[in-house]
Amino acid sequence: MSHRIGIGYDLHRLVTGRPLTLAGVSIPHDRGLLGHSDGDVVLHALCDALLGALGQPDIGELFPDTDPAWKDADSRRFVREALARVHGAGYRVGNVDLIIHAERPRLAPHKPQLRQALADLLNVPLDCIGLKAKTNETLDAVGRGEALACWAAVLLEPTTPSRDRKGAPFQAAGGSGRP
Ligand code: MG
Repeated sequence: MSHRIGIGYDLHRLVTGRPLTLAGVSIPHDRGLLGHSDGDVVLHALCDALLGALGQPDIGELFPDTDPAWKDADSRRFVREALARVHGAGYRVGNVDLIIHAERPRLAPHKPQLRQALADLLNVPLDCIGLKAKTNETLDAVGRGEALACWAAVLLEPTTPSRDRKGAPFQAAGGSGRP
């Protein structure tokens, strides 16, 4: 088996009355991301990158926003399912690289915490997580502070034997890894 790459993208509106959660981390802000789930654009982009690398259905197909089960769901659930599919298909996460587009709030102070949260969620060493936070130079919806967006790229490595990057055996994976 060869290495596989995946790419993911997501954008959510910023609205009042919602908490802001990025990479599963609560970020202080006067607005949060609108969505059927918690609206975590970082984890949604990451999830689609993982699933895309496997050639599997995307997050919207697996966890449709018409399903009450995913109402206000913690998006870490989606990533854990995608990760189980990665392991089930005989791969592990090699590295991840992300770009968050946010005019407000400024994310630079939060980057170390976000990287650590992503490393913990994927169970990979910290240097396997790249994270950039970019403004949109005040242009378009992101630049006006009306939305946040995220791009994610992942590299998957074939596993022989089935161990993660820290040498631990994988937990039981969900299903065969096939849709
Ligand atoms: Mg989304």
